[in-house]
Amino acid sequence: MKKILSVDVGATFVKYGIFEDEKILLKGKFKTSNKPEETFNLIFKIAQKNKVEGISLGIPGIIDMVSGVINKPPNLPLWDGFNVKDFFSKRGFTNLEVLNDANMAVLGVWKYGEGRRCKDLVVLTLGSGVGGGVIVNGKLLLGKNFAAGELGHVIINVNGQLCRCGNRGCLEAYLGAQYFSQNAFYLSKKLNSKLAKENHLEEITPEIVYKYALKGDKGALKAFEEYAYYLAVGCVNFINIFSPEKIVFVGGISKSFHLFSRYFFDFLNNMLSYGQRVEIGVEKKEDISLWGGLVLLYDNSWK
Ligand SMILES: [Zn+2]
Repeated sequence: MKKILSVDVGATFVKYGIFEDEKILLKGKFKTSNKPEETFNLIFKIAQKNKVEGISLGIPGIIDMVSGVINKPPNLPLWDGFNVKDFFSKRGFTNLEVLNDANMAVLGVWKYGEGRRCKDLVVLTLGSGVGGGVIVNGKLLLGKNFAAGELGHVIINVNGQLCRCGNRGCLEAYLGAQYFSQNAFYLSKKLNSKLAKENHLEEITPEIVYKYALKGDKGALKAFEEYAYYLAVGCVNFINIFSPEKIVFVGGISKSFHLFSRYFFDFLNNMLSYGQRVEIGVEKKEDISLWGGLVLLYDNSWK
């Protein structure tokens, strides 16, 4: 395997790794610019400096793998319609693959992570938003417009919380970091626990809620219990549709799974019918999206 650059483009930060022979040689990150040209210029310079043979890019939004056009990336309005493949080919660089960022993480989980060798796999990324992807019979589910696997926008409550996509009651509207943190604050107020007394609403993050939950804060624990409920509702839907061997959680909030797993399995087992069984995993390997970039460039078996 040759030297490659694998890049996970987020709305806030771009993370990258240089790989050679399935080893990370170096890693780095920089701030994402609102202007796509600025961001991809930096990526191009990193590729040149490190003399890489290929680049793989995971990008938020609906990414046309064939043409290289980015559609509707959340929080990056100026990126809509930008053609990544054109940008690099104009600079003489053609060994390049692009994919939706959550799907790139799915490929990493499937080949190098907790979902290794699963023929049927669901991956959920639990961060500021909720992303995901699905492997069906060993193939990544892409759909007609490369837009399949938007698991965070499955509607679980038709009159529910407003989601940033404009709909009400999406799974993401309950599992997103912002909702979770706010909910923890209000629950803490209601239950008269320390979290809301010692923190302002705007300052609360899932990490802070986690710290308080470890100390037994009632509001923080209740927030995790509710989180477990909505996560279980989402998973029951995915199990009923895809019947996966395994569901793997990735991303920030997945690291707290040990705190709420008992509630999660109680809710899940109560809702599962028809004797379905599924394994649940939490991804432990760091930079799993960047590992997905290796699969994107060198392994076609998932296509
Ligand atoms: Zn939504």
